[in-house]
Amino acid sequence: MSASKPATQSAATPYRPETRLIHSGVLRSQFSETSEALFLTQGFVYATAEECEARFKGDDPGFIYSRFSNPNISMFESRMCALEGAEAARATATGMAAVTTAILAPLRAGDHVVASKAMFGSCRYVVEDLLPRYGIESTLVDGLDLDQWRKAMRPNTRSCFLESPTNPTLDVLDIGAIAEVAHDAGARLIVDNVFATPIWQSPLQLGADVVVYSATKHIDGQGRCLGGVILSSDDFIQEHIHNFMRQTGPSISPFNAWTLVKGLETLAIRVRQQTENAAAIADALAAHPKISRLIYPGRADHPQAELVKKQMRAGSTLIGFEVEGGKPAAFRFLNALKLARISNNLGDARSLVTHPATTTHQRLPIEARAELGISEGFIRFSAGLEHADDLIADIDAALEKA
Ligand SMILES: *Cc1c(COP(=O)(O)O)cnc(C)c1O
Repeated sequence: MSASKPATQSAATPYRPETRLIHSGVLRSQFSETSEALFLTQGFVYATAEECEARFKGDDPGFIYSRFSNPNISMFESRMCALEGAEAARATATGMAAVTTAILAPLRAGDHVVASKAMFGSCRYVVEDLLPRYGIESTLVDGLDLDQWRKAMRPNTRSCFLESPTNPTLDVLDIGAIAEVAHDAGARLIVDNVFATPIWQSPLQLGADVVVYSATKHIDGQGRCLGGVILSSDDFIQEHIHNFMRQTGPSISPFNAWTLVKGLETLAIRVRQQTENAAAIADALAAHPKISRLIYPGRADHPQAELVKKQMRAGSTLIGFEVEGGKPAAFRFLNALKLARISNNLGDARSLVTHPATTTHQRLPIEARAELGISEGFIRFSAGLEHADDLIADIDAALEKA
């Protein structure tokens, strides 16, 4: 098979994202299977000792060992590159492996990182707790305030990190402007694009240098397996990521990579429908007397509505809202839902609902949560693929009981 080249580079393609999600990166075996084959193998064998030597020298592009190369992993990486418009990618075991590797691998003691305060709980742990233990200082800023980004920059600042929309309060940060601040200071910008999805936002095109995903979310989208991916220029991946991953092993399993490739085939239609459902739910909740606050990036009343229009192609599959009456009311609401399930996950085909104050963000002191807008009544709703009218009826009935 001509297929033995670990193809992590995206060829320029004339096709639209939906088409790339079906056809990009396929490595078809000698059996000409329709659906991608599953290569559950730890390693590979070589016809001759000379071939083996050439492969280790890098003169022969074939696979060596699934810790750092495997046909299923290559297919997933190539398809992600084609979707994102990135030169190169590396897939990881989880989203956190992608975030940790993208942040940590290029840095050394004495470097400095600036990150937006509002982020996924474990990302905040990496920046705030883990990095300083290895002599890498970090500064957390209010991501919406460009001045704070500018003031936080130091001569030794190497990386800036943000997610947008943010978890769970769905603030939208100006990726282009923050990239400029980072670049002016000689730093790179890493964007966690999970909430936006590659369908609605392309950070590399907006000026970011590196994009990371938890593929556990919309990319699988059906609750089956964990995964992550780092996308960037070929130079960045080669210089900072390839060797770190090859030698330390935060690798994805071929089976999970295969599952995620199948997930990518339906990503665009799922995200589009889930976004439509989220928008319908947001509109239905906007005037509800028991909702004291509603945040949806697709609505004109979103605090950064203009920016949403500028940098995203559509709203979000997620909605944030505050149930009047604090934690007791929020819990009564959660417990009364029949369709939407209580979970800490998101981006799934089934609607999932989260109480951040007692789950994803319970590690933070109450003042830090308040600063982020995560009140005791705050709910994060991840819209699934159910009929929007059924979801709205479920939410309305549960709010009755709140
Ligand atoms: C879930 C998530 C992660 C972590 O991904 P895992 O696959 O659970 O390790 C990182 N960032 C964001 C924004 C997420 O939603």
